[in-house]
Amino acid sequence: MVVETAAQVIDGKAFAAGLRARIAGAVPAFVAATGRAPGLAVVLVGDDPASAVYVGSKGKATVAAGMASFEHRLPATAKQDEVEALLAELNADETVDGILLQLPLPGHLDEQAAVATIDPDKDVDGLTPVSAGRLALGIAGMVPCTPYGCLLLLQDRLGDLSGKDAIVVGRSILVGKPMGQLLLGANATVTMAHSRTKDLPALVRRADIVVAAVGRAEMVKGGWIKPGAVVIDVGINRLPPAEGAAKGRLVGDVDYAEVAAVADAITPVPGGVGPMTIACLLRNTLVAAHRRAGLADPEGF
Ligand code: NDP
Repeated sequence: MVVETAAQVIDGKAFAAGLRARIAGAVPAFVAATGRAPGLAVVLVGDDPASAVYVGSKGKATVAAGMASFEHRLPATAKQDEVEALLAELNADETVDGILLQLPLPGHLDEQAAVATIDPDKDVDGLTPVSAGRLALGIAGMVPCTPYGCLLLLQDRLGDLSGKDAIVVGRSILVGKPMGQLLLGANATVTMAHSRTKDLPALVRRADIVVAAVGRAEMVKGGWIKPGAVVIDVGINRLPPAEGAAKGRLVGDVDYAEVAAVADAITPVPGGVGPMTIACLLRNTLVAAHRRAGLADPEGF
């Protein structure tokens, strides 16, 4: 079926590739100044296959950008103090600029307590309480990768976000809350919506910018969108497989065909926000490395 699309497709894959190339281009100057490459350590606890795939692709992207990648694996039976001891070791390791603890952790572990042991200056996932506080206070710090990627795509499309009406649907620690803070920091007027929000369609209809981070397949409908709005779809949902198919289709939280007919621009799923996450992880590692080495932030990131 051919879908008539009025909206511009925001090509996150191409944008992320450009960002990764610029990061790789900035690494040699860091190496020349410090005598070492920026280093990212990824910690995987247990053997969840999806997490192992993510960790593998993060490692490959790190090396492709000219950075050092350190992968640490602990068994699914690892105790809290073992995880925290490894993180403390990485905090003290001068060759490590960024630490990423792959989530979710096995159920017997306290995720929040483990994350909180990461040195905030190496917290490239932006998930420690100190990073969240810095973001809220507008102090330079590490910002969660997915919402930062969304902000870059929005600024690329719209330029200055000042005075724009933005709605973020979803208030998770990983995406919704930091997204709201970033938009506020960019001087947008921000509405935060969640599962208890009343008359969500009417609120979405007022917005120039819609960020959907809900985890519900195709929930945001065409009739909810103000003509000309820019729509960022963070959701990744797999539909049940069609008859005879092994896997269902991946869709976002936005009904793409309906919304694309009304919006000015929209991110597709896949190929929109997804590729930005790893690119922003590399960006955070580069920035963390500069700050730790006492260098000015690299320009243009
Ligand atoms: P969470 O499940 O942590 O949060 C979902 C949020 O959506 C909650 O705040 C919840 O509200 C809200 N919500 C649920 N139902 C409704 C509803 N009917 N109306 C309005 N709000 C609702 O999810 P995440 O933020 O971690 O992820 C959201 C989506 O983004 C998922 O599909 C996930 O796979 C995807 N994702 C994609 C990434 C990428 O790289 N592209 C990275 C991270 C996530 P309440 O707080 O009231 O429960």
